[in-house]
Amino acid sequence: MRQSQLFTKIERNAPKDETTINAQLLTRAGFVSKLMAGVYSYLPLGLRTLEKIKTIVREEMDAVGGQEISMAMLHPKANWTTTGGWDKIDVLFKLKSRTEKEYALGQSEEEVVTPTVMKYVTTYKDLPKSVYQINWKFRDELRSKSGLLRGVEFLMKDMYSFHETQEDFDRYFAEVKRAYFRIYERLGLTAKATEASGGAFTQKISYEFMVLTDAGEDDILYFDACEFCVNVEIAKEKEGDKCTRCNKGTLAKAKASEVGNVFDLGQKFVKDFDVTFTDKEGKKQYPVMGCYGIGISRLMGVIVEKYNDEKGIIWPESVAPFTAHLLSLGGADGEKIYETLQKKGIQVLYDDRDASAGEKFAESDLIGIPWRIITSSKLGDGKVEVKKRTETESTVMTLEEAVELIKK
Ligand code: ATP
Ligand code: MG
Repeated sequence: MRQSQLFTKIERNAPKDETTINAQLLTRAGFVSKLMAGVYSYLPLGLRTLEKIKTIVREEMDAVGGQEISMAMLHPKANWTTTGGWDKIDVLFKLKSRTEKEYALGQSEEEVVTPTVMKYVTTYKDLPKSVYQINWKFRDELRSKSGLLRGVEFLMKDMYSFHETQEDFDRYFAEVKRAYFRIYERLGLTAKATEASGGAFTQKISYEFMVLTDAGEDDILYFDACEFCVNVEIAKEKEGDKCTRCNKGTLAKAKASEVGNVFDLGQKFVKDFDVTFTDKEGKKQYPVMGCYGIGISRLMGVIVEKYNDEKGIIWPESVAPFTAHLLSLGGADGEKIYETLQKKGIQVLYDDRDASAGEKFAESDLIGIPWRIITSSKLGDGKVEVKKRTETESTVMTLEEAVELIKK
């Protein structure tokens, strides 16, 4: 993509109403545009990054047998009264039509997925089934001052599974939990799992996946080398205590952001909707259900909170909007190099604008693309200057060498 064609522009100063690093940097660099508190539009660069996060999550959900669907976001009231959510869930957005019909906006979709999937399940042979979607959610959140970390409208991956037995559920639950750790790792994040009770609907076990960041809203106790952590709210342990999970280190306190969770829903929703299957003995049974959430747009914010410096964002390669940022500082080679990089399959943003070197460098640092390639008439024939966003030193090399280095 040519930067001259990009309709967004870099903003020199952070917007006054944004207090978090993620919102400040993402707004300045033209990834997102705030419509109101907790509601953002995703602009060309931001959408590319969001899509990359989605792709990683999608690949891992497909790998555990999830089938992707897209459910309605506008729901009839009836589904929510059936589960009790209409009165109990305080973040639920409720709407009324001009004919006085009432609706809810999806904040999580057990109310839709349960009757939808169970329509097709008649016997134990139809189980297990696992379906997911990556879709916008709406929540009437009280505080939405953390940029992408707490949206009133936000992107979530929500998966739901249906099982013949508790045993089969437990097996799948463990598999999805492993997939979650893989996802965070691919995104460049270290997540720790807290064990918690399942909240309003179930006393069963759940795990919340936490990434340490000062921008997060959860307080946790953790030990670096242990993949578990504890939420301070429910912890019996204290800072300085031994980590009871691994018995190897002492617990320290930190802020964290919940980037996903997995719940054992038991039979709560299938009983509400009275949806059953016929077991091997010909008896009607309720399946065991699980749900698995990941905050896709929150993750984008968390990644920025973790990966930045005083100059701007430093995207991990797996989610960067482009792999390389080609800056033309004069000379005629720019167009040819741009073409070659594209032919070699490298996603490249080409700064072909008529701007000063200083301006181009500063904007490139702010956008945070992993590789910078500079072409200028000052460099020798066929040579480019290559620098990683994470490093300070650049190297002069041939374009072929640069391509090889980047592809590695
Ligand atoms: P939180 O405690 O942060 O409010 P939650 O327990 O309400 O999260 P879930 O309802 O289980 O979260 O949603 C699944 C995932 O969606 C969460 O783990 C989180 O990553 C993300 N998420 C939840 N609420 C928001 C929000 N308002 N904005 C952005 N992401 C969110
Ligand atoms: Mg919440």
